[in-house]
Amino acid sequence: MILFKNCRLIKELTEGYEGEYADILINDEDIIERISSPGTIRSEGARIVDAKNNTVLPGFFELHAHLCLSDMNFHKLRTTTQSENALEALSFAREYLKQGYTTIRDAGTIHNVTVELKRAKERGIVNIPDIISSGQIITPTENGNDTFANMYYEVDSPYEVRKGCRKQFELGNDIIKCMLTGAYLNEGGNPGETIMMEDEVREAVKVAKMKGSYVMGHAHGAEGIQLGIRCGVGTIEHGSFIDDETIQILKESDECFLVPTAAIGLACFYDAESLSEDMMDKRKRYELAEKEALNKAYRAGLKLGFGSDIDKENFVKYPGMEFYARTDWYDFEYKDILIQATKNSAEIAGLSEKKGTIKVGKKGELVVIEGKPDEDIYKMKKMPLYVYFNGELIEN
Ligand SMILES: [Zn+2]
Repeated sequence: MILFKNCRLIKELTEGYEGEYADILINDEDIIERISSPGTIRSEGARIVDAKNNTVLPGFFELHAHLCLSDMNFHKLRTTTQSENALEALSFAREYLKQGYTTIRDAGTIHNVTVELKRAKERGIVNIPDIISSGQIITPTENGNDTFANMYYEVDSPYEVRKGCRKQFELGNDIIKCMLTGAYLNEGGNPGETIMMEDEVREAVKVAKMKGSYVMGHAHGAEGIQLGIRCGVGTIEHGSFIDDETIQILKESDECFLVPTAAIGLACFYDAESLSEDMMDKRKRYELAEKEALNKAYRAGLKLGFGSDIDKENFVKYPGMEFYARTDWYDFEYKDILIQATKNSAEIAGLSEKKGTIKVGKKGELVVIEGKPDEDIYKMKKMPLYVYFNGELIEN
């Protein structure tokens, strides 16, 4: 048992308790057993952590990770050995945990490394965030598919899509990721252009549904986003050029959600020398359009998920990047960013019964942040004081 004393709570992220300050007791099964006024829980033998009136948040969600990316020198992936890549991915997953992330949805990998990480975790070898894995990315024959070694699985008909999707599930993956439009970071790709055919997207959704799962659809252009929604994909990734009409369609849907990825936008400018001219050119050309579109989607009240799309090097160098990127790169309000990283993303990932808020009966996954990040999101630049997950207390 572990008792977190003197926690400052955020109302929108707490259920079944009204006060601003509380003690939180987590039992040996890592379930939140009690939330009560400070000083009112007596628990013999419990380990005690004094949060000292700092802010305590539920564990964060990363809905768009690539655990196989150790840095932005993507071409290196082709010569990285399988075991080297697995070790890099493992250390990236640990970095996520240290920053307070307890759930990672991986959006594309090589060597099926995310499944191996999940298995290592199940065997009790490593403590890393819970992983939802998509395996290789299903994509039509396109420019730049070899940018990330074998991260892409090429398909050019509904039957090939069927094979590709079934292959990912056979390998132990949980969901399917499809490229509905081109990409910024694929050499020669055109982000606004729709690249998958309707019958191909429908086929991916069909196979995923048979497995009780869903498709995450990479889409920048409005046409590609609409294609995804129409075909039944579960999430739209990036959504850079979403327009008014598409925002409205998404707003009325309770089956498809938008996951913007702000940190990768910032990272491309911080780390410009790692990128090719083609990649940087696209980034510069579309920057304003992307910011404007995502701000509109936010102001329209869409339930937005939390994804970063960044590599390990930038993730470690700039702690809390996705949090402040949503203010720097877009123009989101501080408290809403915290809600996107927890409650919203838990709902989008279908995990809100167990995660996403601090509530008796939910998983005891807590992150202690110094000060009041809901009033100053740049507090997230500092590593959390404590992260508690799966029986382990990390002190930074
Ligand atoms: Zn991605």
